[in-house]
Amino acid sequence: MNTIGHMINGESVSTGERFQDVFNPSTGEVSKQVILASKETVEQAIAAAQAAFPAWRNTPVAKRARVMFKFKQLLEDNADKICQLIGEEHGKISHDAMGELQRGIENVEYACYAPELLKGEHSKNVGPNIDSWSEFQPLGVVAGITPFNFPAMVPLWMYPMAIVCGNCFILKPSERDPSSTLFIAQLLEEAGLPKGVMNVVNGDKVAVDTLLHDERVMAVSFVGSTPIAEYIYTTASANGKRCQALGGAKNHAIIMPDADMDNAASALIGAAFGSSGERCMALSCVVAVGDSAADQLIAKLTKEMKNLKVGAYTDSSNDFGPVITKAHQDKVNGYITSAENDGATIVVDGRNPEVAGYANGYYVGGTLIDNVTADMSSYKEEIFGPVLQVVRVNTMQEAMQLIDDHEYGNGTCIFTRDGEAARYFSDNIKVGMVGINVPLPVPVSYHSFGGWKRSLFGDLHAYGPDAVRFYTKRKTITQRWPSAGVREGAQFAFPS
Ligand code: NAD
Repeated sequence: MNTIGHMINGESVSTGERFQDVFNPSTGEVSKQVILASKETVEQAIAAAQAAFPAWRNTPVAKRARVMFKFKQLLEDNADKICQLIGEEHGKISHDAMGELQRGIENVEYACYAPELLKGEHSKNVGPNIDSWSEFQPLGVVAGITPFNFPAMVPLWMYPMAIVCGNCFILKPSERDPSSTLFIAQLLEEAGLPKGVMNVVNGDKVAVDTLLHDERVMAVSFVGSTPIAEYIYTTASANGKRCQALGGAKNHAIIMPDADMDNAASALIGAAFGSSGERCMALSCVVAVGDSAADQLIAKLTKEMKNLKVGAYTDSSNDFGPVITKAHQDKVNGYITSAENDGATIVVDGRNPEVAGYANGYYVGGTLIDNVTADMSSYKEEIFGPVLQVVRVNTMQEAMQLIDDHEYGNGTCIFTRDGEAARYFSDNIKVGMVGINVPLPVPVSYHSFGGWKRSLFGDLHAYGPDAVRFYTKRKTITQRWPSAGVREGAQFAFPS
């Protein structure tokens, strides 16, 4: 059986004592095993990164950016292979995997801009013969811990910018679909990155805890579920590390009575069921304002959902593939059952769909649930599956209150033709990323990504301009060259 190891100091490491099965969710078969790193293995990676740091830090930024240019080219050249690996272990259909990879590549493109981003700030003559400037210095060894649902894109949110800023990186990918992540990191070596600057350790809590407690690791970026994000943030912070930890979500779409219902229904279908709903920006909850809006929308959704195709990642005519594991399939089905038991109406039931030839795959069909209320656990918790819930309210204020009261605040959107309502909504809603007639308002790579409330722990968002700040520390230098021969006495007043 194929074994997936680590990449430490530019070398493949395939020894270890603990292993975990990696499944092909489309078939339910074990396809590979991943080695779970020991504390000692992670410490080797940290030591390699630390040794590589002095030379990498002093490499001119234009030269660091040149590695990223080459890396981008290699990602494009290897796109088919990367998407195949994502499909095998995650279950994503190739069009969706391609989309994920493209968004990842856009972060590499932004990292190529580093010479401009790291120019710093300069002020001449802040006092007599005194100039002052701020520069952005790398932190040293930094780490990233990533989730299963975007094995290519989310790591690419982190290490291209961290590395181009002069840091050395240790990535701990998800143990559930580690192959594409490892393969992509190996392309960095081919792009000419010096050994030790980028390291990948596969593993579980043992690897994560080693990174969180080792004093050589200066900063930790995390993306995953909220309970783990909170644990990462509190532990990393208690150990004196800079930390950004992005967590889970429940993304609501308000449907106003004046919305273009046909377009809203199509947009919702893609945003709710794409990638089997396993996206932190998936639209999982519709808040319909007025019964007429709710009824019209549900009629259109029900009609369109008849054409949804769930199936194996190998057939690109499928709309979406399986969910990640058997346990997750059971969990998603369990939420549908709990909504039903709580009195909601199952309009389209995706439990146990028939997928010919793939009886053991982890499939859940597109599911639509009406009359959901805020006290139901299926509403309060993140389902992370192809399930769209509808909550009915009477006014836009009620809809906004519902969203504001939810513990998560990652993404949201409003469908309306009323500019005033849209402007009020975007200005006041307590959510980090807002769409106006845009169902998945995922910021482009030159903005930053992050939610509010319990969707993000820390201050700085992921990628974009915030990433430059996260992966550097500011130093401000004030310099004076007094005129020769001019004698100046001591001054006791605070300099002004
Ligand atoms: P997860 O929290 O289970 O795992 C994420 C990472 O944490 C993995 O690398 C895993 O190995 C590690 N981990 C898991 N349990 C741990 C523990 N007890 N101690 C230390 N480390 C641990 O998340 P997942 O299931 O892989 O991903 C899905 C979740 O990620 C969803 O909640 C989704 O909303 C969220 N997500 C959020 C964003 C965002 O930007 N906000 C993006 C993608 C995914």
